[in-house]
Order: sequence, then C-alpha cells, then structure tokens
Amino acid sequence: MAFVITSPCIGEKAAECVQVCPVDCIEEGKDMYYIDPEICIDCGACEAVCPVEAIYPEEEVPGEEEKYIQLNRDFFQGR
Ligand code: SF4
Repeated sequence: MAFVITSPCIGEKAAECVQVCPVDCIEEGKDMYYIDPEICIDCGACEAVCPVEAIYPEEEVPGEEEKYIQLNRDFFQGR
C-alpha cells in the first residue's frame, strides 16, 4: 500500500507534500508530482498538507482517478 497523487496536482504542483515527506519519496514530474510506492511508509503527512486534496491512500483513490495508482508506480519504473 502507498499514498497516490491524482489529477488535482496537474498544473498545481504546490509541493507542500515534498517538504513534509519523511522518506523523500515524492518526486517532480513534468506536470505533477509522484509518490514512489516502494518507498512510501504510509504516514499520511502529504495527504494532510495538500492544498488541492490530490493525495489519497491507494485503497481510497476515487474511481475516476484509479489510473493514477499505476501512473505513480510507472514514473519510478526502470530507475
Ligand atoms: Fe511520504 Fe508519508 Fe506521503 Fe508516503 S504517505 S508519500 S511517506 S509523506
């Protein structure tokens, strides 16, 4: 399980999450930020500070945002 960043981050990129993540697993992509699910420790700090409510625990991602579970994972593939 991990936390997942979804579409409200696109074009927003507020980056408060990056400041609070204790394990530095949030990285900047072209349009949005992404969480590395292999490193995330599920602390929830990022979710609490996101001003656009883009971050969810994986099992609570809304249906229309579910593709972001894979998109976050894909961003870190092959690194
Ligand atoms: Fe980082 Fe915690 Fe958010 Fe995971 S839940 S991305 S460890 S701040």
